[in-house]
Amino acid sequence: MSLLSADGLRKSFGPTEALRGVDFAVDAGEIVAIMGPSGSGKSTLLHCLAGIVRPDSGVVRYRDQDLAAMSDAHRSSLRRTEFGFVFQFGQLVPELSCLENVALPLRLGGTKRKPAEAAAREALDRFELGDLAGKRPGEVSGGQGQRVAIARALVTTPKVVFADEPTGALDSLNGERVMRLLVAAAKELSTAVVLVTHDVRVAAYSDREVIVRDGRTPERVTAR
Ligand code: ADP
Ligand code: ADP
Repeated sequence: MSLLSADGLRKSFGPTEALRGVDFAVDAGEIVAIMGPSGSGKSTLLHCLAGIVRPDSGVVRYRDQDLAAMSDAHRSSLRRTEFGFVFQFGQLVPELSCLENVALPLRLGGTKRKPAEAAAREALDRFELGDLAGKRPGEVSGGQGQRVAIARALVTTPKVVFADEPTGALDSLNGERVMRLLVAAAKELSTAVVLVTHDVRVAAYSDREVIVRDGRTPERVTAR
């Protein structure tokens, strides 16, 4: 049984068929890159897998549970406690320090300030950001900001991190550094990573690639 899987996903937005028969699976601790041309349905697939978008048909299963069959409360709690999210940019709260940003998911989950900030400090150190704890997002570089965002996504030790073009706004040197640290942390924590990217150098950090083309996954999933 896979940790997270999708069978026969279809999703249209008005006349646009974003997904027209997509299968997917990721195991615990596995890093899978979803690749394909722009507009091929990668983000829609990611959103369906994360329970943010409801597919028109097909099934998404997390630990053998059908996401669509869960209550809204159950699905939201899953997203908060077992999933982590990283986007291309604009995800840090500008008024909070980097430390407070990383502690935020724990604070929202009811963890007290001291233990939340201790865990956040550990997560910042893991991403070589210890010196930036007191700085605001506006005072750090793009690469540093992405590392803060990833530290925040991992601070709850989720089972799956969804990352949509996490290095899309970075130069290749910073992009590779972000990927190196993300992969090391994910492997250490046994967190699965579902990564959307169109960059082969980024995908090279994954264990496996899945190609989405015109809303389909025709090629059999390739092992590295
Ligand atoms: P990718 O991530 O591969 O670039 P997307 O999943 O973002 O592809 O989009 C697939 C197709 O679905 C595109 O034609 C896109 O314009 C369309 N699409 C995605 N989201 C929406 C939406 N919320 N409303 C309308 N069309 C959308
Ligand atoms: P509708 O209003 O037609 O039901 P929405 O996309 O607005 O469609 O979603 C409604 C509800 O479906 C929301 O409460 C949302 O939490 C839930 N939902 C979101 N993603 C999924 C999913 N992948 N599977 C099932 N339900 C989902």
